[in-house]
Amino acid sequence: MEIVDCHCDVLSKIWENNESLYSNRGQFDIKRARQSGVIVQFCSLFAPGTADSSLRAVLNQMDKFYVELNLHSDSVYLLSSFGDFMAHRDGQHIGIILHLEGGEALGQDPGLLRVFYRLGLRSIGLTWNHRNLLADGVLDDASGGGLSRVGREVVRLAEELGIVIDLAHISSRAYFNVLEMVSRPVIVSHANARRLCDHPRNLTDEQLISLAQHGGIVGCTLVPDFIKPAGTGHDLNDFVDHIVYISELIGVDHVGLGSDFDGVDEPVLKDVGEWGKLQAALEGRGFSAAEVEKILQSNALGFIEQVLL
Ligand SMILES: [Zn+2]
Repeated sequence: MEIVDCHCDVLSKIWENNESLYSNRGQFDIKRARQSGVIVQFCSLFAPGTADSSLRAVLNQMDKFYVELNLHSDSVYLLSSFGDFMAHRDGQHIGIILHLEGGEALGQDPGLLRVFYRLGLRSIGLTWNHRNLLADGVLDDASGGGLSRVGREVVRLAEELGIVIDLAHISSRAYFNVLEMVSRPVIVSHANARRLCDHPRNLTDEQLISLAQHGGIVGCTLVPDFIKPAGTGHDLNDFVDHIVYISELIGVDHVGLGSDFDGVDEPVLKDVGEWGKLQAALEGRGFSAAEVEKILQSNALGFIEQVLL
């Protein structure tokens, strides 16, 4: 079994705690990821704040990543094109895709995205939960705000450069603004179905259908509050309910994984070493071997191949 995981927060975590990417006490490290068959991992750079403070923190997290990459180049590589992936498909290496979770660091300078691209960035979510200079976040939904002028410029530039556009965390208005603009597929890296769990971070049926019409994928996520309403208890089968529901609504070809390891307390798989349990649970719920393979890796790989230039 091979796994492509579209979201985790290990980089900001090990930067804060001064820990190793290879082996640490958090929910994700290379050692356990290899045992689980992870072949590609999106890793976020996460630093909400003012433009200047965010920029410094993001650059520091990138520095931490490159220090770790040099130390562990026998087991990880920077995935910046699909060719990089093909060149490292040997069962020994995990490709890391650098993702910016919230574009605060860009301030009002869309051109900084070109600099980040040169530094290896290949994925961006315009906002975290709150409004910034690019767009409104999901917790500002009541304002009805969408993409700003600078936000539109960032979307255009991301498409031109071949950077993944991630609509997790963005307001509903901005979500549809982006879909109207883009010509290539986009991702929602970590979210579930609003119909099964009424949380603002989950996607409505309309959002899911529109995502699929644009060829995009959703990374179903292990975050407890996005699986069942807080305090009602949850297990792995409740998570699989979301995968089943979304597969039936928009087709299994649009479903992937976005764990949010190191971004949340008590995910339904306790760490990256437990991915095997999900494979068994999916098989137990009637997905064919080919469908399980699509969900665990090939839908996300196909998406990466289409978007990274
Ligand atoms: Zn997140």
